[in-house]
Amino acid sequence: MKGFNTIAIHSGAGKRDPHGTLRMPVYDTVAFEFENARAIQLAFEMKAPAHSYSRISNPTVEFFEERIRSLTGARGVIAVSSGMAAISNIILALAETGTNIITTRYVFGNTYSLFEHTLKPWGLEVRYLDLREYEALEGTIDEKTRAIFLETITNPQLQVIDVDKIAQIAAKFQVPVILDGTVTTPYLFRAKDHGVAVEVISSTKFISGGATAVGGLIIDTGNQNWQFCPRLKEAARKYGPYALIMHLRREVYRNLGACLSPHNAYLQTLGLETLGLRIEKSCQNALTVAMFLKSRPEVGEVNYPGLEDSPYHEVAKRQFGGRFGGILTFTLKDQAACFQFIDRLTLIKRSTNINDNKTLIIHPASTIFCEYTEEEKKALGVPANMLRVSVGIEDVEDLIEDLKRGFGTP
Ligand code: PLP
Repeated sequence: MKGFNTIAIHSGAGKRDPHGTLRMPVYDTVAFEFENARAIQLAFEMKAPAHSYSRISNPTVEFFEERIRSLTGARGVIAVSSGMAAISNIILALAETGTNIITTRYVFGNTYSLFEHTLKPWGLEVRYLDLREYEALEGTIDEKTRAIFLETITNPQLQVIDVDKIAQIAAKFQVPVILDGTVTTPYLFRAKDHGVAVEVISSTKFISGGATAVGGLIIDTGNQNWQFCPRLKEAARKYGPYALIMHLRREVYRNLGACLSPHNAYLQTLGLETLGLRIEKSCQNALTVAMFLKSRPEVGEVNYPGLEDSPYHEVAKRQFGGRFGGILTFTLKDQAACFQFIDRLTLIKRSTNINDNKTLIIHPASTIFCEYTEEEKKALGVPANMLRVSVGIEDVEDLIEDLKRGFGTP
């Protein structure tokens, strides 16, 4: 099998382009023409699959999906309009009113809000656990459990859960594990090899190649037998192993309408080609920045799984092949000290995104988590004296110089 970077650059050719272009063009079109009435009927019946309407499928988007499929060894991939679209599509595809999902409070703020404020009112029960407590997890799964949801490195708590352990427990009950691999991507973590059923990714982050476009991915790894998932029984009878992909393509994804635009698919495909190079540099820089922050007397805690004293160091090292991602957090005296630090920076950008080429900083408690009470913020692991840094791919000496500026020292 070829290496990650080679596949990221060469795979997904599909049909030969009449002009021999080396780049998949942007098919900026809504609909496609057919030779005759029978041909369009066969396309709609999926007997002669073809693109008919770009909310359902599009050649440029399909090219991106195929490239991700080759890179991950997945059964099928659906690209969507954002990471949140990926998460909402997959939950709505697997669960229904009166059922439950099991997760942790340590998830991305909008994901928590989706569970608490959007899906709960629709009748989904969301059971929160500390996913390091395996016995509690086993005791919480019941016949109404439709999925276990977790992130590879939680944002912004930076907790790393042993995915194999969770997948082993889930497999006993035939419950699919949905993993948000946004901050690791298939470059650092091959979800298929760890028992994950579905990986969701915000391709807005690392994959887009410098914050060029919002996008998301739903990746069916091929590990799950969908006939055991109540919502997919009928689809499994009709489509066998492709039950999830077809249930999405022909119902949930099609009906929700959160499709990726062809232009954004083009940008994401371009970003994917340099993903490996950029992640390597970001991880190296993050470790250097974490060690620098640790040496500063103004700093309370530095939270980065790459530091040997992190409680998640060993599991992260095993799961992510000795790289630890580009995000870290650290604490200062209080919120005022955090604000002062942020305002002194001249290179690092004050911004909410993560995994850009540029290094970004934010005070999570007053921004991403501002809608939550103090008590909730505590439960979500977001104290008022914490800053989050997403380390980019600049020359690290320049980042250290700017961080020194943040501390008010040359
Ligand atoms: N998952 C994680 C871990 C994230 O950090 C984010 C956004 O920051 C999302 C999902 C949502 O992605 P998007 O902004 O593309 O909807």
